[in-house]
Amino acid sequence: MAQMKLLVLPGDGIGPEIAAATETVVEAAANRFGIDLTLTRGEIGFVSLDQHGTTITDDVIAAAKDADGVILGPVSHNAYPPVAEGGRNPSGVLRRELELYANIRPARSRPAVPRPVTAEIDLVVVRENLEGFYADRNMASGPGEIMVEPGVAIALRKVTTKGSRRIAEAAFDLVEGRSRKRIAVVHKSNVMRLSDGLFLEEVRAVAKNHPGIDYEEILVDAAAAHLVRDPSRFDVIVTTNMFGDILSDLASELSGGLGLAASLNLGPAFAVAQAQHGSAPDIAGQDRANPTSLIGSAAMLLRHLDQPQAADAIEAALDDAMSDEATRTKDLGGRLGTRDFAAAVAAHVVG
Ligand code: ATP
Ligand code: MG
Repeated sequence: MAQMKLLVLPGDGIGPEIAAATETVVEAAANRFGIDLTLTRGEIGFVSLDQHGTTITDDVIAAAKDADGVILGPVSHNAYPPVAEGGRNPSGVLRRELELYANIRPARSRPAVPRPVTAEIDLVVVRENLEGFYADRNMASGPGEIMVEPGVAIALRKVTTKGSRRIAEAAFDLVEGRSRKRIAVVHKSNVMRLSDGLFLEEVRAVAKNHPGIDYEEILVDAAAAHLVRDPSRFDVIVTTNMFGDILSDLASELSGGLGLAASLNLGPAFAVAQAQHGSAPDIAGQDRANPTSLIGSAAMLLRHLDQPQAADAIEAALDDAMSDEATRTKDLGGRLGTRDFAAAVAAHVVG
């Protein structure tokens, strides 16, 4: 029997609700497919701040490294106190500590789920996760933003050969396994000549090793327009950190909503499942959140951990539940709360 140790970090806002829903579904899949699953819970966010004076402890980081994978809930880091008072962004800390350089963000439309465009969507945004304008997350020299004088702030954008090369390799490996075999590199090298110039150079070098792939380079503004006009033209999109952050939200919303948006963070040794959206404080504690995002992320994690049958079963169960209006959450025009939806999905997993 395959053994699997997963660490669940519920987080803030709707985090505890969607994490509990995800546990229900993952446990059902483990039972059905004979996985000897150990689910451990850790505290991050405000719960941890109250108890330990920091939003993420070293113990939690160690537990994440010790597990086979992590299911990470959203965090309200905008609302945290300053770092000096324990308000570190747990998501950023884990990305850096676990060297999670790739964020794989699929967006897929489902026939029965309403969406704002007619085109079908089945794309994956491969987002660089440690550099770009978010470089304060890994710059030893200090924050990636500086206030040079009152009224004048400067943001630094870090792009490296190593970071660009490995995100390009992750994206090309992914596209090789997909049927359409198209990749779009999204950049703004006409303005950011040095940083996006370097990024493009590395992506082109990797592209040379993948002659069978349909390759295009698109400016980020044009990519946004194309996404809205005809998202079906995209298969895999590879891009830098902030562009990936923005375009993946756009793609998810076009495919039916942020509540559907799953993602997997990957590094050389670790994998972390994480919904694309934030902690949604506006609906927290109301049993209204759609847990599809985190359940789908967990399915990606299971696939990564060599449990493709469990991953397939969860994805099919989500599709089945959502195809019926009676078993949809409120954000998709249905009536079910987070808990009842999770129970419906788990029932489909069991078969
Ligand atoms: P944060 O500061 O943590 O990012 P936010 O206020 O930006 O929080 P998001 O979580 O980014 O909120 O969500 C943006 C909008 O999408 C909110 O109105 C939220 O209610 C909605 N939303 C996000 N996730 C879900 C979900 N899983 N189910 C239903 N609605 C969601
Ligand atoms: Mg947000």
